[in-house]
Amino acid sequence: MTKTFELDRSAPVLVTGATGYVAGWIVKSLLDAGVTVHAAVRDPDNRSRVAHLEAMAAAAPGRLRLFKSDLLEPGSYSEAMAGCRYVFHTASPFITKVKDPQKELIEPAVHGTRNVLEEASRTPSVRRVVLTSSTAAVYTDAAECAEAPGGCLTEASWNRTASLAYQPYSYSKTLAEQEAWKIAEGQTQWDLVVVNPSLVIGPATSRSPTSESFDVVRQFGDGTMATGAPRLALGVVDVRDLAQAHLAAAYTPSARGRHLVSVEGTTIYELGKTLVEKYSGTYPIPRRVMPKFLAWLFGPILSDVTRRFIARNVDQPFRIDNSKSRRELGVSYRPIRESMEEMFQQMIELGYFRKKKK
Ligand code: NAP
Repeated sequence: MTKTFELDRSAPVLVTGATGYVAGWIVKSLLDAGVTVHAAVRDPDNRSRVAHLEAMAAAAPGRLRLFKSDLLEPGSYSEAMAGCRYVFHTASPFITKVKDPQKELIEPAVHGTRNVLEEASRTPSVRRVVLTSSTAAVYTDAAECAEAPGGCLTEASWNRTASLAYQPYSYSKTLAEQEAWKIAEGQTQWDLVVVNPSLVIGPATSRSPTSESFDVVRQFGDGTMATGAPRLALGVVDVRDLAQAHLAAAYTPSARGRHLVSVEGTTIYELGKTLVEKYSGTYPIPRRVMPKFLAWLFGPILSDVTRRFIARNVDQPFRIDNSKSRRELGVSYRPIRESMEEMFQQMIELGYFRKKKK
């Protein structure tokens, strides 16, 4: 971080979805800084989901309190939010293999955002809500970069192409962020600051991460891409840099609006390339580019991606302007290779991959 902010330790903060990959590092940063964290989780009795949070608290000056809350249960965040000045709303399903997108994605994302933010309006101590949105609320396909003013995505860009039928996760994040702005603008007690990360990479604080991020990186080591990786354009950000962006969004009084939090563009092929030197002797890391026509032909057979998605994301220029996050939140982005190596190493240790046969 190049910019510093002053942490407020005088009141507890709420983190929703505290068991999550992104939330894990937010909770850790807050506890390490001596803040009392109210961690809202679906099942506080599930040891495999909360043990890492308790271990972090035991080693830090901050205090942890667990609360049972569900996005879909009205009033479920009231006890957890009582007395809190800041609310970090990270909970939302990040899954792409869904049967019923309305039930599995849209409802928890949108009703959950309404549930948490309306609770903030009923809780007099709350002054700021930091929402974990996504670049999925900014665009669906990399081809939209070229169509954006100046050929680059900015905080002014909104996703207008995702739907229940096409990239429903992106649709859920768009609807949820729009709902958040609508609720924020209808009151004056608290302000809303939004963080829009691209694909998050880097190690998890938990030993059983559920985030889709791990399914993306798993494909570099499980043989799925052994014959090659497409130049599928995307942005990425390290999970620890993202946690710092969340803290800065909460504790920088002048922070306003949305913030694109992403290293400038890369591709799936280039992400795989960061692992070649260290791991390709032992694991089937992709070494070659998969041509677009092959990705178009086989993508829908080998995985869940559609031909429309491949056409509009492979071999497309990806440009995103992260200058607001650097300037106003002080985010300094670590190199992608460092995040990828640390994440991959952790996944090896957690048993994600089998070694190549000699
Ligand atoms: P994750 O590890 O799967 O975390 C998702 C969290 O949401 C979990 O804590 C989960 O709780 C909670 N949750 C899901 N449904 C819930 C419900 N009905 N009630 C209460 N909690 C519920 O995924 P993540 O990657 O950390 O994602 C966290 C946030 O970051 C999400 O808002 C996601 O959209 C956003 N984001 C992630 C990425 C990325 O690449 N990872 C990129 C951009 C934005 P349980 O433990 O109980 O399941």
